[in-house]
Amino acid sequence: MNSVPGGQNGGEHLDWPVLLEAAEAAARATRGRGRVADYIPALATADPEAFGMAVATVDGELYGVGDWERPFSVQSVSKLFSLALAVAYGGDSLWRGVGREPSGNPFNSLVQLETEHGIPRNPFINAGALVVTDRLQTMTGDASGTVREFLRRESGNAGLDTDPVVAASEAEHGHRNAALAHFIASHGNLENPVETVLEHYYAHCALTTSCRDLVLAGSFLARYGVRADGTRLMSRSEAKRINAVLLTCGTYDAAGEFAFRVGLPGKSGVGGGILAILPGRAAVCAWGPRLDQAGNSVAAVTALDTLTTLSGCSVF
Ligand code: GLN
Repeated sequence: MNSVPGGQNGGEHLDWPVLLEAAEAAARATRGRGRVADYIPALATADPEAFGMAVATVDGELYGVGDWERPFSVQSVSKLFSLALAVAYGGDSLWRGVGREPSGNPFNSLVQLETEHGIPRNPFINAGALVVTDRLQTMTGDASGTVREFLRRESGNAGLDTDPVVAASEAEHGHRNAALAHFIASHGNLENPVETVLEHYYAHCALTTSCRDLVLAGSFLARYGVRADGTRLMSRSEAKRINAVLLTCGTYDAAGEFAFRVGLPGKSGVGGGILAILPGRAAVCAWGPRLDQAGNSVAAVTALDTLTTLSGCSVF
């Protein structure tokens, strides 16, 4: 077995258990760095020292280390799935209401929306995710239920659900998101009532998932749009586009730094999870609740950095 660490190209066999162990050791060494999100009070109860990581390969292998099956709040990682489903159901029409450029601003920033006339910069900042949720609601009549069912089916975790305490906490402290939604609506860029859009947005952000659930659910992007059962969710071109937006916008105003360190398309959430895609090979998820200034998990970025650096595998 010509196992990597040490390999420098994308073709060879990767020794995932060895890579995961090294990534975990690096992540654990970040102990104490970063802060657990508390602007949504229900998230502040997360165990700051938890760490898990999982890999699902395109061949159907599944590996994990640490707390890889422990549930956490998916938060903005759900935006990957709401976008994918909106694209799968609606195709290109979505891009009339939301852009695909990095924002260079915090994920909950209001400033660009005014100068850009209520068209959010990209689908992964909160403003853009609200528009995506709105369109998914129009297409399906149940945006958050559609995301939940997709995650359940792909992960095989039938109990995967919204945590009502987190959803209520988000709603109670959601003045910024409400402001964003009303502002977008004032520009005519919401098709559903603000209250409906916010309810579904909070419900999909407050889904409880594990690293295991997320790699299984995200692996369609590693298979260029094909689900684990062999059926196609979206075209290869659409999968490419989603991976491109993940790379440029998936980790907020630190997307440049994430590309520099990790070199993979990825989506982070303030619950501390990051789901990353190694196209043609695997979906990888790392989780640790302590966040850096941009809202990305310190441990998860370190773990993914270690994995791509040791293996030599990234999109570059
Ligand atoms: N639900 C969170 C919010 O709206 C998601 C933010 C995130 O994970 N970056 O603020």
